[in-house]
Amino acid sequence: MSERSPKVLLHTCCSPCASASTLRLIKDNYTVTLFFSNSNIFPEEEYNKRLMNARKLANILNVPLLEDIYDHDSWRLWIRGFESEPERGKRCEKCFHFNLQKTWQKAKDLNIPFFTTTLTISPYKISPVILQIGRQFPGFLAYNFKKEDGYKKSIELSHQWDLYRQKYCGCEYSMNGEHKV
Ligand code: SF4
Repeated sequence: MSERSPKVLLHTCCSPCASASTLRLIKDNYTVTLFFSNSNIFPEEEYNKRLMNARKLANILNVPLLEDIYDHDSWRLWIRGFESEPERGKRCEKCFHFNLQKTWQKAKDLNIPFFTTTLTISPYKISPVILQIGRQFPGFLAYNFKKEDGYKKSIELSHQWDLYRQKYCGCEYSMNGEHKV
């Protein structure tokens, strides 16, 4: 692999968020592998729907997609005690930590030197909080994908490629929230 094109593992929360984020990383000369690791999503049918669309995006962009196991029980244990926190609160911080730690571990196992996450593209999420958690792990690239109209581009690409855009963030506690993608 050329030094000018280092590898990065991109935690992919969903296909719309990954669309513009992946293009941004490619533009910055990274070689991108997508990593779908989202045990926070509930129910499993919804998880599968988002995963299918991540596969679709990987095909469109011609990038590899790695799929983590779905383990919602472990995620529930991890956030225990924070179930009734509001969106953008402590439960979400723990949730980000859960998925970023898994991505960091996967990158380490595969000798991929860098990793980052699509989570920062959403206007419903606070980028500095996500970046602060990511920086706890070596190799984290602190991309704020909201910048350079990232979110707007993700919406346009989702329409163009007919990607599924969910109506809630992911977990059962967010199903009646205001969050969309
Ligand atoms: S609302 Fe979203 S970020 Fe927050 S805990 Fe649920 S799935 Fe995770």
